[in-house]
Amino acid sequence: AKGQGKNAYSFFSGGMSQQARERLFLTNSLRGAVERDELVLNYQPRICMQSGTVVGAEALVRWQSPEHGLILPTRFIGLAEETGMIEPIGEWVLKTACRQMAQWQARYGRPGFISVNLSPRQFNQKKLADRIAALIEETGLEPTMLELEITESMVMGDPEKAQETLSRLARLGVRVSLDDFGTGYSSLSHLRQFPLQHLKIDKSFISDLPGDADAEAVTRAILGLASSLRLGCTAEGVETPAQRDFLAQEGCEAWQGYLFSKPVLPEALAEMLWN
Ligand code: C2E
Ligand code: CA
Ligand code: CA
Ligand code: CA
Repeated sequence: AKGQGKNAYSFFSGGMSQQARERLFLTNSLRGAVERDELVLNYQPRICMQSGTVVGAEALVRWQSPEHGLILPTRFIGLAEETGMIEPIGEWVLKTACRQMAQWQARYGRPGFISVNLSPRQFNQKKLADRIAALIEETGLEPTMLELEITESMVMGDPEKAQETLSRLARLGVRVSLDDFGTGYSSLSHLRQFPLQHLKIDKSFISDLPGDADAEAVTRAILGLASSLRLGCTAEGVETPAQRDFLAQEGCEAWQGYLFSKPVLPEALAEMLWN
């Protein structure tokens, strides 16, 4: 059907599943969303456990579609990855986050960092490190104020290539953190040899804290691993004081979650970081 061109789709759509129809619908309007300036970044603060202050923020993309309203990334990032549209989207996210942070840095002059999620395709781009170097140069952003979030599977697919990319990023002075940690399949021996600076404990473990013996054990194990590999550690998805207290007691360095704040607009984040 594909070979017959665009109109072939409407002919077959009668027989399409609801899900397939939504995908097609979204794919078509996602095309050009960057050019039409429909993407926005929200920022979720990261809190230092010890001081209770905001130390940085994670950039999270949203799509403000005129046709469909506000769309969260879980509905379109996977689709964008499959279709290749993640390339312009990822580029837009990186550029926007770096510019925003450089602007804040110039205005407030105090520390704080921004953390950007990379997709598998983005991480595998040959030019990723060059592109990041150019963005840093272009915006004047302090490299230490940028953190990139990747997942275990991105590293484990082609460990040698990942090693090379990570080394280049480390030489630039950019921090890399392993997102959703505990859900993937990293080999510990490999993990040790990668130049990584940070782990983020997946929120599926945090949501069962405290009280669930398995979640507690996994959390402790990750914190122990982070500490012995001298990596920083952030717990994600913290929603209750009991979760935060458990993490504090186990020596977790930082946290993010609705307990402090949902992802917010840039102005609101600036208030939290530099008020
Ligand atoms: P993630 O990187 O694991 O981001 C954390 C997600 O958890 C965010 O959802 C955030 O809003 C949500 N969250 C934060 N605190 C809490 C909490 O206390 N409770 C609960 N239940 N959820 C919390 P969001 O913004 O919908 O993003 C979903 C995923 O989409 C992200 O998961 C990330 O994998 C992806 N994503 C978001 N922005 C980008 C982007 O710019 N590029 C790429 N490649 N992926 C992105
Ligand atoms: Ca993330
Ligand atoms: Ca995560
Ligand atoms: Ca996640």
